[in-house]
Amino acid sequence: MEHNTRKIGIMGGTFDPIHYGHLVTAEAARDKFGLETVVFVPSGNPPHKRHKKVSAGEDRFLMSVLATASNCYFEVSDIELIREGLTYTVDTLRVFRDIYGEDADFYFITGADAVMEILTWKNVEMILKMCKIVSAHRPGLDMATFRKRVKEIEKLYRNKIYLIEIPALAISSTDIRERVKNGITIKYLLPEAVENYILKKKLYRY
Ligand code: ATP
Ligand code: MG
Repeated sequence: MEHNTRKIGIMGGTFDPIHYGHLVTAEAARDKFGLETVVFVPSGNPPHKRHKKVSAGEDRFLMSVLATASNCYFEVSDIELIREGLTYTVDTLRVFRDIYGEDADFYFITGADAVMEILTWKNVEMILKMCKIVSAHRPGLDMATFRKRVKEIEKLYRNKIYLIEIPALAISSTDIRERVKNGITIKYLLPEAVENYILKKKLYRY
């Protein structure tokens, strides 16, 4: 009898705010690997953003819900937001394993800048054993440097990193926050519902 493994996508991020770069990347991965679902996981207290000002988890969670509401394959999880202390990807993956069971295959979806940093993550070896890494290129990063790092990680951990093609979107949350602060339009960089939420809650003004 054929055994169908469940394929679950996990899209981690600060999502401060979520934008079309995230959504296009997640949808491309879903489509390419036939994922049953992509779970967006707004970060709790990530060690690499410890010294940065990050919006309230509730705002980032709600913006993620608004942005993903129209895609029946997308969902949002609050597991990192309800966890105390610093949050690490390896712990999140353990929770996913508990939820979905031993049979599930996890596809951790990232942008190229995240892959560049992967070697600095806590328990990277364990993470690479627990999931497949899927990555889209991201403007601003030299393609040759990126491919070199991918090869390096693959060789070091004997683990393939799956690259996906997306139309390059030079959109970042940092740029969106800067625009709001400077009174520059953010229309068409992110879903309208998220734009309206930012206006309503007066986010990123200072
Ligand atoms: P910030 O500028 O605050 O760091 P960001 O735009 O990089 O925000 P994150 O929440 O940090 O967004 O990113 C979450 C994940 O989405 C990361 O793996 C990141 O590489 C990926 N990502 C973000 N923007 C894009 C994009 N435009 N194209 C491809 N991947 C992206
Ligand atoms: Mg980022």
